[in-house]
Amino acid sequence: MSLQDVFIEEMRDLYSAENQLVKALPKMAKACSDAELKAAIVKHLEETKGQVERLKQAFQILGKKPTGQHCNGMEGVVAEGKEAIESDEEGAVKDVQLIGAALRVEHYEIAGYTAAIGIAKELGQKEIAGLLTQTLNEEQTAGKTLLTSSKTLLKQAGSEDDADEEEDSDEPEDAEEAESKRKSEEDEAEAAPELQKRKK
Ligand code: FE
Ligand code: ZN
Ligand code: FE
Repeated sequence: MSLQDVFIEEMRDLYSAENQLVKALPKMAKACSDAELKAAIVKHLEETKGQVERLKQAFQILGKKPTGQHCNGMEGVVAEGKEAIESDEEGAVKDVQLIGAALRVEHYEIAGYTAAIGIAKELGQKEIAGLLTQTLNEEQTAGKTLLTSSKTLLKQAGSEDDADEEEDSDEPEDAEEAESKRKSEEDEAEAAPELQKRKK
């Protein structure tokens, strides 16, 4: 496999990731209580549509189709976002959950674009590197905007918490949560042998 092939794979992965977000971001915006956070997500949804177009342009330059590779990573990140969207919490607490999910989305994209830009430059694809860099800048700005929103919302969520005395139980509430708990215990057990080798 040539570096050019790796490049096309990476870009197809990004194209799938952005398309998944065009579908997921409206649901995330709808789930937000805070007007500023909602507006930030709606704004980034519009940017995301432009990012899909930029990737199409890049594929036009390459003379290749943009489809061909599904981004499993973004599927997982979006699935975690769905947990936040469907959370029974409300107000600032739920918004904090949504910010956690949205930050994961942006940082996953930042990693993907950073990798792709490196390859584009190595291949001498200056125009494509330029397109990808415009998108990378938008992802970075989106991440920073989320952090700005989180400052007030964290304070609010923290004070809402004081009024809410009831302790949530750690017990799984449905089959999905039970499976998640089981797998987390499996994660711990599978890490144990390697962790034992840790130098003290
Ligand atoms: Fe994006
Ligand atoms: Zn991916
Ligand atoms: Fe993004």
